[in-house]
Amino acid sequence: MIAEIIAVGTELLMGQVLNTNGQYLARRLSEAGVTLHHQTTVGDNPQRLEEAVRQALSRADVVITTGGLGPTADDITKELCARALDLPMEPNAEAEAMVRGWFVKNGRPMTDNNLRQAVFPRGARILPNGYGTAPGCIAEKDGKAVINLPGPPRELIPMYEQSVAPYLAARSGAHLVSRYLRIFGMGESQVESLTGDLMRESVNPTLAPYCSTGEVQLRLTMRCRTPEEAAPHLDRLEAQVRQRLGDVIYAVTDRPDDSMERAAVEALRAAGKTVATAESCTGGLIASRLVNVPGASQVFLQGHVTYANRAKESVLGVRHETLAGFGAVSRETALEMAEGLFERSGADICLSVTGIAGPDGGTPDKPVGLVWLGLCTARGARAQALHLTGNRERIRTLAALHGLHWILRAARGQDI
Ligand code: ATP
Ligand code: MG
Repeated sequence: MIAEIIAVGTELLMGQVLNTNGQYLARRLSEAGVTLHHQTTVGDNPQRLEEAVRQALSRADVVITTGGLGPTADDITKELCARALDLPMEPNAEAEAMVRGWFVKNGRPMTDNNLRQAVFPRGARILPNGYGTAPGCIAEKDGKAVINLPGPPRELIPMYEQSVAPYLAARSGAHLVSRYLRIFGMGESQVESLTGDLMRESVNPTLAPYCSTGEVQLRLTMRCRTPEEAAPHLDRLEAQVRQRLGDVIYAVTDRPDDSMERAAVEALRAAGKTVATAESCTGGLIASRLVNVPGASQVFLQGHVTYANRAKESVLGVRHETLAGFGAVSRETALEMAEGLFERSGADICLSVTGIAGPDGGTPDKPVGLVWLGLCTARGARAQALHLTGNRERIRTLAALHGLHWILRAARGQDI
């Protein structure tokens, strides 16, 4: 099955909004084993949009559009898709009930133009929108399908998961079961050189890498007739990968968007341990990422941003002489930050971070990218220097990731 994505919106074309829907859909389609040859971005212009849809239909079995489903005059996607499919537009009772229901549920008055959102190509399958007024749809003709999804990602993603993924699975007659191995502490090229033969030779399940800042993820995907068939095949491939990579695999999950912080929070919960953080150069990034995980309140006690030396002294009890003698970015300061936090917070695992994110502030012996992590638990305190590279944002992101990884390992009782 070949699919094509068309992102509609002048704001995308002008660079005011990043086309994250395109990225999201492309990823999900590749996970579903659907082939993608083209992605198009087109403005809110009727001729060019219709042309883009016609061209996509000439090349693909399924065309997915995002954006332009709303009630305003520039929301023209459905109409032009219907024209390209040569289907008439007509009021759809099911969709009208959904639109009216949304306004009742949200206690908002409905205006007449909202009923535009209940007009659909004849025979289209209506896709409910749990997070906005505009339903989506799937319109089929002569073996081809056009799927119209809303622009806002918080509406599009649930609609894709709830309605489109099952539709595509049913249409292709196959189930795809994926498993994700999350890797920290080994670069992309090394992962590839150790597992490259498996990536090339494994056909079903397939093995594919994804990289983000500081992390690599391997996706194992099995195409099968029933989901139950997948597990033993995935187990076998996972065992082969583990043999090559060892303990850099810190989590195995069935969701593509898992994270270090989720693994850390889960490990803390499983161990019945609590955590506290004292951050300097990361400015609360670690705390923020922990709090992103639902249920973090059970394990995360407190997080301090002690940016100035004075704050490191008054909040954490770092000694003035330590800061004066060794500097804020030093083993000694990182240790005292973690120890002070341990005494004051009562948390089982106390993490500290202090470093130089740049672009200024580096010296020959303390260059930009030098970051000290400290950790204090009932087993004692320790600190370690990281030598990170990149711009300020990247250094802070990597420092936070390393900090979360320490929390994860400490929660699991593993060596740091
Ligand atoms: P609405 O009912 O809100 O008008 P819509 O389906 O008509 O929704 P658009 O008007 O095209 O969608 O876009 C609404 C907003 O959704 C945009 O301003 C933008 O913030 C976001 N958006 C649209 N397309 C994308 C995309 N491809 N990637 C990320 N965000 C997008
Ligand atoms: Mg709109």
